[in-house]
Amino acid sequence: MRYFLFGKTDLTVSELGFGGIPLIRLSKDLAVNVLRRAYDQGIIIYDTANMYLDSEEKIGAAFHGMRNRVIIASKSIQRDAAGMTEHIEKSLIRLKTDYIDLYQLHQVAREADWKAIMAPGGAMEALLHAKDKGKIRHIGVTSHSLEMALKLVKTDLFSSIQFPFNFIEIAAKDELHAVARERGLGILAMKPFAGGMIDNADIAFKFLRQYSDVIPIPGFDSVEAVDQVTSFYKRENKTTQSDVHLIERYRTELGKQFCRRCEYCQPCPNGVMITQSMGYRVIANRMSPAVAVKFSRLPMESVLKCDACGACVEKCPYDLPIPDMLKSFNDLYEQHLNAS
Ligand code: SF4
Ligand code: SF4
Repeated sequence: MRYFLFGKTDLTVSELGFGGIPLIRLSKDLAVNVLRRAYDQGIIIYDTANMYLDSEEKIGAAFHGMRNRVIIASKSIQRDAAGMTEHIEKSLIRLKTDYIDLYQLHQVAREADWKAIMAPGGAMEALLHAKDKGKIRHIGVTSHSLEMALKLVKTDLFSSIQFPFNFIEIAAKDELHAVARERGLGILAMKPFAGGMIDNADIAFKFLRQYSDVIPIPGFDSVEAVDQVTSFYKRENKTTQSDVHLIERYRTELGKQFCRRCEYCQPCPNGVMITQSMGYRVIANRMSPAVAVKFSRLPMESVLKCDACGACVEKCPYDLPIPDMLKSFNDLYEQHLNAS
């Protein structure tokens, strides 16, 4: 594992980080084991969020007593100062610490979010105040919108940018990463598996390791998963011709518009199981149509309840035309059902 300074900050980080979402579904004991294993394997940067339920508490439990050996990043979706202050205080308590290395504005995607954050009484005031008091050491930002991420990076207000990056979602590679580098921001790569669409960890990390200052933060839900991914970092990184072909196959199969399973669109007022239905085509390709129709019956039947109200589209950070996509996946499902 390599270690280096995170952008222009004084934080030393590992080339691989740990994303805190999967900790939610683990028992506290198992979460602590997984986190400690990650530390033993050399990972020293841990990313979580106020909204990831008890993920912060589990990280706090794992690293209590060795706080100065790890870098903790958290984040809040709050847009006003009062809400942000409350979240920072909560994060400090849950993480059992008196400082957080990096506190990020979570998912700043739309102009309205940014205006609210920067307005008098907005979240930026609370972040700057907390930094002054030593409660947070650096301020970062996360986004799923390339246009907004670029704008945020160029404000020079942030020490880091967190944006999706994997061999399917390569939009950040050129301009966003280049501008962030030039301005001294640390770069965190969320969604190294494209929200579950990439099921080949070997290829996923062969691709990511080519970008030596971009820190992937995969979520881990077992000691075995930690051992598998960290083992990639113990060997030389070589991409073969067959890896390149495989990457091309994934790209063709998923196309440009695909669901990253972020679940921001949920819940649907009509009970449509959006995330599960949006993966139908990939499931059918990976399994077989006959297996996929059995596996996906409930979500695909729920698609019939969609009245195209558009509520989900407004919430999707990738601007996916969800009702149209659901309809085409349902058509495919019907074809497979009739043929089975
Ligand atoms: S467009 Fe369809 S899936 Fe989306 S929220 Fe409305 S009913 Fe639900
Ligand atoms: S449809 Fe959009 S918001 Fe919903 S899970 Fe997929 S990517 Fe996320």
